[in-house]
Amino acid sequence: MKLENLSRRSFMAFAAGGTVALAAGKVHAHDGKVATYPVNDPNHPRDPGPHDPVREALNPDLVDPPATDSGTLPNLRFSFSDAHVRKGSGGWTRQVTQRELGISTTIAGVDMRLDKGGIRELHWHKEGEWAYMLYGNARITALDTAGGWFVDDVGVGDLWYFPPGVPHSIQGLGPDGCEFLLAFDNGNFDEDSTFLLSDWFKHIPPEVLAKNFGVPAEVFNTLPSPEEEYIFAGQAPDGAPASAVSGGVKSKQVFSHKMLAQKPLTLPGGTVRITDSSNFTVSKTIAAALVELAPGAMRELHWHPNNDEWQYYLEGQGRMGVFASSGQARTFDFRAGDVGYVPFAMGHYIENTGDKPLRFLELFKSDYYADISLNQWLASTPPALVRQHLHLSDTFMNALQQEKHPVVK
Ligand code: MN
Ligand code: MN
Repeated sequence: MKLENLSRRSFMAFAAGGTVALAAGKVHAHDGKVATYPVNDPNHPRDPGPHDPVREALNPDLVDPPATDSGTLPNLRFSFSDAHVRKGSGGWTRQVTQRELGISTTIAGVDMRLDKGGIRELHWHKEGEWAYMLYGNARITALDTAGGWFVDDVGVGDLWYFPPGVPHSIQGLGPDGCEFLLAFDNGNFDEDSTFLLSDWFKHIPPEVLAKNFGVPAEVFNTLPSPEEEYIFAGQAPDGAPASAVSGGVKSKQVFSHKMLAQKPLTLPGGTVRITDSSNFTVSKTIAAALVELAPGAMRELHWHPNNDEWQYYLEGQGRMGVFASSGQARTFDFRAGDVGYVPFAMGHYIENTGDKPLRFLELFKSDYYADISLNQWLASTPPALVRQHLHLSDTFMNALQQEKHPVVK
């Protein structure tokens, strides 16, 4: 899209938003003092100084917040498209961590692409690693703490989870390798600081290596530089499936899971799939929901009683409103490839604002998924008590639903 088109769109979005804000201000008595800025006046432009219409067009709810927004809630959005890309001979990677999105203390995200045959080097780390396959096919390997080996092939919508300290690898398969999202159970995680096989070999005296493996020290004269590994071009395994791989003792644990193949909870307006340690046993530190919203549909008003929410937007566009208590609330716009964040217990909703499905992942540093529905809470509280709080009519009271509806339309 040309710049001038985006610029015009941005201006129109602002004008439309301004009208909505004015209406909202009239509806809510407590917003009587909210200023609504006059728009569409050529003699009095909204923002005559320097600004970036391309970025503003992507963030209409920042440029022209709903009248109900208030206060200094920190930034809750960061796009992987704004993250540094580290290239290797077999693919590339980028990360959105606490360093990019300061509020995201519980979880760090990594986006990785491996070419066919491309290898994410054998390694381990202190954090638990949860993954969602975004594209293509990959082969994963691991060794469990009982000495059991694990190999599996994964495709789009499949997960894996490697507990802290468990060594593993990932390799792109045919026809075109893979791309996947990684989520680590620590916002300060750094994908560049994992324990790499080649790095350790380079930092062990050859005579110690010789003693450990029972071979002459000269064997280690040709070790590669760790700089050449990490993500490096390799040979894809032959056509045999992972199930054909043989070795020592096979792990009794299953480190992969087919999340997209789960039968979803289906509601008017969308679907929800939930995966936590109740149906994916090894995933002890990450609980997840995969939500799909039809155009106009909304993830209902709710909050989570266990931990912060880390989001990854897979497809479409939407907006999220977050209530932080003490009269504070902010609204953020999201598109595919964005990370979103909701601090612990804050009330929120997510609305599909596009004309295509909106799909996103909700992740929690927790072994279980849980949410509290505002609607269900009010429906399950004595009506006389609720009436005295909100002063709303029978129309509202009769519409409350005791059954939870995570998606509404
Ligand atoms: Mn890893
Ligand atoms: Mn939520």
